[in-house]
Amino acid sequence: MAFCACSSCAPAPAPAVSRRQFLCTTAASAAAASTVSGAIVGTARAQQPGGATAPGRAVLIKGGCVLTLDRSVGDFEQADVLVEGGKISAVRPNISAPDAEVIDAARMIVMPGMVDTHRHMWQGILRNVLPDGSLEDYRNVVQRTFGAKYTPDDVYAGDLFSALGAIDSGVTCILDWSHIHNTPEHSDAAVKGLAESGVRAIFAYGNPQNENGRYWEMQGHKYPGDIARLRKQYFSSEDQLLTLYMAAPSASPELILDAFKAARDVGARITIHAGVGEFGRNALLEKLNAEKALKSDTTYIHCCTLNDTEWKLIRDTGGTVSIASYVETLMGHGNPPIQKAIDTGIRPSLSVDVETSVPNDFFQQMRTVFSLQKNEVWARRLSGDKNPPKFLTVREVLEFATIEGARANGLERKIGTLTPGKDADIILLRTDRLNVMPMNNAVGAVVTSMGPQNVDTVLIAGKVMKRNGQLVGVDFDRLTRLGDQARDRLYANANVKNVRL
Ligand SMILES: [Zn+2]
Repeated sequence: MAFCACSSCAPAPAPAVSRRQFLCTTAASAAAASTVSGAIVGTARAQQPGGATAPGRAVLIKGGCVLTLDRSVGDFEQADVLVEGGKISAVRPNISAPDAEVIDAARMIVMPGMVDTHRHMWQGILRNVLPDGSLEDYRNVVQRTFGAKYTPDDVYAGDLFSALGAIDSGVTCILDWSHIHNTPEHSDAAVKGLAESGVRAIFAYGNPQNENGRYWEMQGHKYPGDIARLRKQYFSSEDQLLTLYMAAPSASPELILDAFKAARDVGARITIHAGVGEFGRNALLEKLNAEKALKSDTTYIHCCTLNDTEWKLIRDTGGTVSIASYVETLMGHGNPPIQKAIDTGIRPSLSVDVETSVPNDFFQQMRTVFSLQKNEVWARRLSGDKNPPKFLTVREVLEFATIEGARANGLERKIGTLTPGKDADIILLRTDRLNVMPMNNAVGAVVTSMGPQNVDTVLIAGKVMKRNGQLVGVDFDRLTRLGDQARDRLYANANVKNVRL
């Protein structure tokens, strides 16, 4: 590992960082700011040249190659997308909208924003801390060493970094699998970070962290019961960018059932890790099913080492699945169950999981799934299998990254395709870049060759978040200071010497 965790190497604790001078600009942020204050995002949005559109003004995305991913609407080699009141009102060639602000989409692919169904966003200030680490290293270092010492300000910074990184790379909707609720103030700070970023987020309220991993022995946390307060305080409406899930713990069935009940008592959907490494061979889903706890409101993450009965239980109860294939190949979760999901009749969604070990690049997720599934099919053919599965297509993979993500995040009626009536979560991808030009196959270019450097423009609920390759309204100087200060404070509090080489 790239640092020494012994107490003798620890620097003196850093002084508390004051950001009182920052102005708070959003109501949601202000409401959440019990221990943290200030805003990095939004202060400059109105002044950003070529950035924000006027509130309420229609936006016409003109002349792009449009992949709606809605089979009833189809794709267009060249068409326009009209956005009115934050929603997609029309998709067709030659739309006339004289009062709309025009975004020129020539030489761009216009498609739905990508949807991540599982990312531990509080770790946004710990990017790349464990590039060589296993799952066990992750638990020891990220959760028990750092997580145990996280302050609410650290959570805010981590969530903000992760959310802005998501938007920048074309992910417009993301489930924050937030297991850092050491106190209720930590929860407020996570919500503040998400709200300030402007991303469409699912806040999945999870367990706290401590040094021995036995969170139920901790004092000061209110998990899982505090979800009732969070529902009331921040998530009383479904008609907002932030929605609420319960992140059920990796713990005994009794503790999991407690979390399931607390979630369902407030009408929150559920997300849970299952089938992770050797630990995941414990038939957990069979035990939960015996208590009639498995329903269609639940997303199961990883699922690498589930047994066949558990897979059928997910399908038969209408659950959804999130595969974080890249991290699964690196850290010992087990073989990413892409073909298993398909064989069971489940279309999976995709997720980044931990930025401590893998990039926030969602194109990487698509490519990893594509490559692993095809490799498995080729291997079966080469070994003489006379009835091998079909190869995945790039279009199917793109659907995993969009509409299947929307489904797992409980938002398929709102986002995931460019369907008139849905919210306008849209990305524009440049085809005049040297990694894809000249363009021959739009879906192929996105899935096999593009990266975040192709993400030119991002809209979330019709609001322009990125334009001309730059995030809109983000004060990068302050953001940089925030990240450095949060990282240094965390290392000091955790008695870890930061050795960056
Ligand atoms: Zn995870």
